[in-house]
Amino acid sequence: MGGGRWNNDRDGGRTNSEIDWTIPTSRDERLEVELFGNGNTGINFSKYEDIPVEATGDNIPPHITSFDEVKLTEIIKNSITLAGYDKPTPVQKYAIPIIIGRRDVMACAQTGSGKTAAFLVPILNQIYESGPRPPPANISGKRKHFPLGLVLAPTRELATQIYDEARKFAYRSRMRPAVVYGGSNIVDQMRELDRGCHLLVATPGRLVDMLGRGKIGLHNCRYLVLDEADRMLDMGFEPQIRRIVQEDTMPPTGERQTLMFSATFPKEIQILARDFLSNYIFLAVGRVGSTSENIFQKIVWVEEHDKRSYLLDLLQASNFSDPSAESLTLVFVETKKGADMLEEYLHQMGYPVTSIHGDRTQREREEALRRFRAGKAPILVATAVAARGLDIPHVKHVINFDLPGDVEEYVHRIGRTGRMGNLGLATSFFNSKNINLVRDLVSLLVEANQELPPWLDDMFSEARYSGGGSRRAGSTKGRFSGGFGARDYRQTPSSGSARNNGSSNRPGSYGGNYGNYGGNYNSSSYNSANNVSSNDPDWWDK
Ligand code: ADP
Ligand code: MG
Repeated sequence: MGGGRWNNDRDGGRTNSEIDWTIPTSRDERLEVELFGNGNTGINFSKYEDIPVEATGDNIPPHITSFDEVKLTEIIKNSITLAGYDKPTPVQKYAIPIIIGRRDVMACAQTGSGKTAAFLVPILNQIYESGPRPPPANISGKRKHFPLGLVLAPTRELATQIYDEARKFAYRSRMRPAVVYGGSNIVDQMRELDRGCHLLVATPGRLVDMLGRGKIGLHNCRYLVLDEADRMLDMGFEPQIRRIVQEDTMPPTGERQTLMFSATFPKEIQILARDFLSNYIFLAVGRVGSTSENIFQKIVWVEEHDKRSYLLDLLQASNFSDPSAESLTLVFVETKKGADMLEEYLHQMGYPVTSIHGDRTQREREEALRRFRAGKAPILVATAVAARGLDIPHVKHVINFDLPGDVEEYVHRIGRTGRMGNLGLATSFFNSKNINLVRDLVSLLVEANQELPPWLDDMFSEARYSGGGSRRAGSTKGRFSGGFGARDYRQTPSSGSARNNGSSNRPGSYGGNYGNYGGNYNSSSYNSANNVSSNDPDWWDK
């Protein structure tokens, strides 16, 4: 692979292939400023560097430590430089060579770890190398588009962020990214598609609509990305996703490359991975919070009726009058009504606050986010569902006004601060309603080297399992050992059915040099599996 400009598996379309997509188009200084103007600042990479990544599967390509170690087209290299990405993030170090090696990937990594470029860089690089494809023969329909790659994302905000990142890596190329999402005029979006649609970023519902209208055909789609897959399932998108992937004209696994990203790896996601991926490599990326300790986690005992006044005390400590003070504060509450009431209360108390939750219209949510990001309303009250998957940089403080029901969600929430190695603060209000969290929360805090309040330590001692032994410091078998958010369930001996061993795929479907990937997971050397929470089958099974 590599140097070849064209794929030889294309059926004709000679005229189309006269243009070499690897050659950069001319510079456009205005566009350059628009795309790359607001460079990355204040990223503390030294801390981020240490995050461990665990890769499992057959024949894993070696990871890279710099962008120079993979052969990338000039266009991509140029954009990486302009974006100021000096070094790949941990997930990028592993995912980029794996995807360039034409393998499927299932990656578990928290928000803010650089997943977008981890899939865009290698996919677009391959698209530049193989060039455009002619529309499939015998397909009629004017102005129907046949994207070469498809990225599915749960929300409009996320889809837009991915599209913006794709525009950076499309700079000086002939590749046109496009984005479609619900809640906005479909006719306008279809018109926009007519300007070109080689990489399509879409929310599932809107794409199903476009497929139904014959505006888009997936025949040529050789790259499929499911971003924030767990979130998409939470939002009930599974039927639409299956309709898109399995009931349309998308090439089957083996012919297409499929990449799945998810913060967690529950059963439903495993099933989706089994159905959509072929002989995939599983990547577990350590959490910033639990390994590099750059989130200061504080748990305070606050009775329900004291929560508001305690919150005011916390807010008083932040300097909201200075917009440059980076004091963005995200307050999580359990219910929509709770969000409305707390926003109203803080507003009455004179705080610059806004809120988002599931009952808000798209426009209201966007407006709220815009004001929050811009620092006009630096306090955002949110329900977990509404906030999931949003890229909100530099949140200084996450406050769990109401703690969530499980520790995975807790980890997800506090991951909003301390992003990309910046130091963050997370304060959680705990009371008798949250007893169920004690064990997991204590394990997590101990692993992250956080100080335990004495009352929590006492509660932990009382609640400690009689048979299971201590999960405290000293025990290396905690649920969060290594700080990974998930593990490869294929490694669990009892589940060794190896349904994804690729044997049902056509031989050689990975292209010339990659014919030997169809191995069996059971025969591989997974002996190291046992050092990750082997006494915790519920970890991925909940
Ligand atoms: P995720 O999808 O994992 O939540 P993103 O892809 O949104 O993370 O990346 C988070 C932020 O990090 C973005 O602002 C992105 O521009 C930046 N970023 C990504 N990769 C790098 C890198 N290699 N160097 C510096 N900044 C990066
Ligand atoms: Mg993302």
